[in-house]
Amino acid sequence: MTTEELLQYDREHIWHPYTSTIDPLPVYPVKGAEGVYIELEDGRRLIDGMSSWWCQIHGYNHPVLNEALHQQAEAMSHVMFGGFTHRPAVELAHKILSIAPEGMEKIFFSDSGSVSVEVAMKMALQYWYAAGKPEKKHFLTITKGYHGDTWNAMSVCDPVTGMHGIFHGNLPVQYFIPRPDCRFAEPCREEDIRPLKACIEEHHADIAAVILEPIVQGAGGMWFYSADYLREVHRLCNQFHILLVCDEIATGFGRTGKLWAVHHAGISPDIMCIGKAITGGYMSFAATMATNKVATTISAHEPGVFMHGPTFMGNPLACAVACASVDLLQTYDLPRMIGDIEAQLKQELTPAAEFPSVADVRVLGAIGVLEMKHPVDMARLQALFVQEGIWVRPFGRLVYIMPPFIIRSEELSRLTGALLKIVKSIS
Ligand code: PMP
Repeated sequence: MTTEELLQYDREHIWHPYTSTIDPLPVYPVKGAEGVYIELEDGRRLIDGMSSWWCQIHGYNHPVLNEALHQQAEAMSHVMFGGFTHRPAVELAHKILSIAPEGMEKIFFSDSGSVSVEVAMKMALQYWYAAGKPEKKHFLTITKGYHGDTWNAMSVCDPVTGMHGIFHGNLPVQYFIPRPDCRFAEPCREEDIRPLKACIEEHHADIAAVILEPIVQGAGGMWFYSADYLREVHRLCNQFHILLVCDEIATGFGRTGKLWAVHHAGISPDIMCIGKAITGGYMSFAATMATNKVATTISAHEPGVFMHGPTFMGNPLACAVACASVDLLQTYDLPRMIGDIEAQLKQELTPAAEFPSVADVRVLGAIGVLEMKHPVDMARLQALFVQEGIWVRPFGRLVYIMPPFIIRSEELSRLTGALLKIVKSIS
């Protein structure tokens, strides 16, 4: 197949994320990827600004992760997790639980972030069922959140700006309160907390859990909010007997400058979802962690088991690569590594705040966001970025980057330089 034939077949038969089959957005054929570079079939090399949607923290084609994958493939690629266990799964559980936020004692492996959210929500519901309060069956969340594309995950995505608005009539009805306007590193005001407090005071009797992305809201708006707010959510959840589910699928494994975003607030949730970077971006894999209290309550009451068990649960290839990825992460001086990226992003992106088309510039950890005044033409902008040798995929009014952690200073400067050049040109 020539590249043209490949692209034509793709156009005619393959659905890409959030695209039309009649008028699909352009796609760029990739030949390979190494470090922070993605190589296209025509030989162009792009500096990756997206970490393939938050995942590729160590960069592509990493020898240590490759080796872990090869070795595991030689031993066993997959075996069912019902009735069997294996070293990669047990080692991974141990590695993750020993660095997880305090109180996380049990881990449930699954295949993707969305599934781990389904699992978390099911755990919360089964917990209250087992605790004799089946009426606690709703979730409370903040607007502009994003938790995945499966059914229950969709029900807690932003109902208006989320990508799932058209399904809302068919989804479980949840409680939404406005996202906090208090920015990261700033204190929360009384009015930021008021809707949260009011909703919990009125509805706590039928709320199973609050679910949110801690500190950084990703795909729903790339918003960084105050740690005070998260602390207040945690306090109110405890006071009113509501579980707290934190979705760290995007934020986990260091992206925000702390290993877990909840560390910014010094709190621990009852249930926590992780995914994306768990395998260093090598394959689809995720996990849901829970406290002993949650797990024991579910297990001590009829039906006595947690009702979930995906076919590829605990896949050994994914577990082995995840073990290698966590080990690698622990060799990094994470505060310094992410701190350096953060400082450079702040310095190099801040000038964009002067561009007429830019409404806001914000940076946290290894995440840099330009919020535009108007929605951008994604296809056009992406073509311009590719011409400049960088890979950035904007959506809506957001042009943002979260590069692999191993990006070198000069590569990051090329990324931000090209980004600002293009954004300025469309201003
Ligand atoms: N939660 C958050 C915070 C996410 O960013 C994502 C993915 N963008 C998901 C859940 C869903 O994960 P997946 O795409 O692996 O199903």
